[in-house]
Amino acid sequence: MSLDARVVESSGGHGHAVVIGSSLAGLTAARALTGLMDRVTVIERDWLPRGPGRRRGVPQARHTHSLMTAAQQGLEQLFPGIRQDLVRAGAVHIRIPEDMLLLGPAGWLPRVPTDLSMLSAGRDLLDAVIRERLYVDPKVTFLQDHEVVALEPGPHDTVTGVWARGRNRKECDGWNPERLIGADFVVDASGRGSQAPEWLAELGYAAPAESVADSGTSYATTLYAPPVGHVADFKSLFLMPSPGDPRQAVLNPVEGGRWSVTIATGNGTPPPSDHAELLRAAASLRHPMLRDLIETATPLGPVYTCGRTENRLRHYEKLRRWPDQFLVVGDALAALDPAHGHGMTLAVECALVLDHLLTAHGTAVGVSHRLRRALAHRIAPAWQSSTRTPAPPAGLRARLGRRYASRLAAAATADPHAAALLLHLHQGLAAPAALRSRALRAALGTRHDPAPMTPPSVTHGPEARRRRPVAPTAPAIGVSTGSSARPRPTGSSAHWPAAQPAGDRRRS
Ligand SMILES: Cc1cc2nc3c(=O)[nH]c(=O)nc-3n(C[C@H](O)[C@H](O)[C@H](O)COP(=O)(O)OP(=O)(O)OC[C@H]3O[C@@H](n4cnc5c(N)ncnc54)[C@H](O)[C@@H]3O)c2cc1C
Repeated sequence: MSLDARVVESSGGHGHAVVIGSSLAGLTAARALTGLMDRVTVIERDWLPRGPGRRRGVPQARHTHSLMTAAQQGLEQLFPGIRQDLVRAGAVHIRIPEDMLLLGPAGWLPRVPTDLSMLSAGRDLLDAVIRERLYVDPKVTFLQDHEVVALEPGPHDTVTGVWARGRNRKECDGWNPERLIGADFVVDASGRGSQAPEWLAELGYAAPAESVADSGTSYATTLYAPPVGHVADFKSLFLMPSPGDPRQAVLNPVEGGRWSVTIATGNGTPPPSDHAELLRAAASLRHPMLRDLIETATPLGPVYTCGRTENRLRHYEKLRRWPDQFLVVGDALAALDPAHGHGMTLAVECALVLDHLLTAHGTAVGVSHRLRRALAHRIAPAWQSSTRTPAPPAGLRARLGRRYASRLAAAATADPHAAALLLHLHQGLAAPAALRSRALRAALGTRHDPAPMTPPSVTHGPEARRRRPVAPTAPAIGVSTGSSARPRPTGSSAHWPAAQPAGDRRRS
């Protein structure tokens, strides 16, 4: 990179932070930085849509995204009232497992009350609602259509800015000259494809060690309009993996009364790539409930696939030499297999750590070492729960662990405490001690009868039938929930276009 080509722009003084990337980790980090810094600039390679819209930088947005309990709580701390905003925009609140049919590793779980829940919505909607909060924050500026290409080193192992280039569609290489954007603190939230190791290497720093755990899982996702006459006392369906069968599947309601359906394969098996294959895959799962639901539903778009989902953790905390005033967060730090839905939780956790430490120290200078260590500590539970393999290493401890896991899974089909603990573990949450000991008693106590083979619901309407292609002016379709016999549209449906059947094209 030629220095001459760089146009230098000064930050105009202390108190300016730059965040690279405006997906969930970038947005939440920006919010955290506003507590201390005077100004925050979020640099994003894409042009950002006003409202929920697709963009290239977040291809995974086509897949089912659930905002788990810890992510909701953390977001609420960062953006008070955000849950309400999301629900108002169309996100669906789902109590786990009360509002779900949930096939655990050893059978259907009872629909008992717990303190767990998720918000289900299209990923574009989640980002758009959070982005709106930052648009109205006078401290935050978005620099869209700009790509960060390098870090600017400062004296005494510091970073003092980033080099960025704006898109220029008239130029043959598509970019304007690079310019320096000065900063007193830089956060890399550029996702799984982060260039931070290369940027650091250019400045003479060592590459971080990486832990990689790949279960060979691939995902196939599509949207459906529920069948006409569909009536259910559940909102969501989740088929967990079981010993010997790594596949899992989810059907979640999303804004506009649609269903987002994902099937995950394991062990390198390719995912279904069109609707016929998806239906066959659904029929071959441990229970045909998903097939029963979608065979009379109307596909609303292609089946999208995603295969790059290995767990990858960059151990920046272990590097002895590191530039101060620079931090890596979110997927750029630890990208997790989406099987447990931990990715957005981890992004929010990183922002909470940033918020807490910057507030506690009252400065962004000289705290990078503490921040890196605190982040490593905070993300460890999510990493462990995502990388727990079905066949842990041999040894007495591992054998006992496996035996306990299988007894807990069996107990969870009948005992509410065991079910609640299983779900806490799945979400990577620390369960209260009282719950742990009750679940332990249930798991180690009397042998349980074989788990019920039928899901704890009676209300998938026998009258359900595939809808006819709808005219563009037809009213939007609602998911009916509760035990009433007549479908009733959700509050959000009115804001969304009517569901339109779509073809079978594949785009991965
Ligand atoms: C199939 C699938 C399903 C998932 N489901 C869930 C789920 O249910 N629940 C959950 O919690 N998580 C889920 N996740 C994970 C979740 O999508 C991510 O963890 C989340 O998006 C946070 O990522 P991030 O912000 O760190 O990075 P990303 O979302 O990857 O965003 C990176 C951003 O940086 C921008 N960028 C990249 N490079 C540059 C650059 N050089 N300059 C400027 N901008 C740049 C990109 O354009 C993009 O906007 C899923 C992931 C996948 C793949």
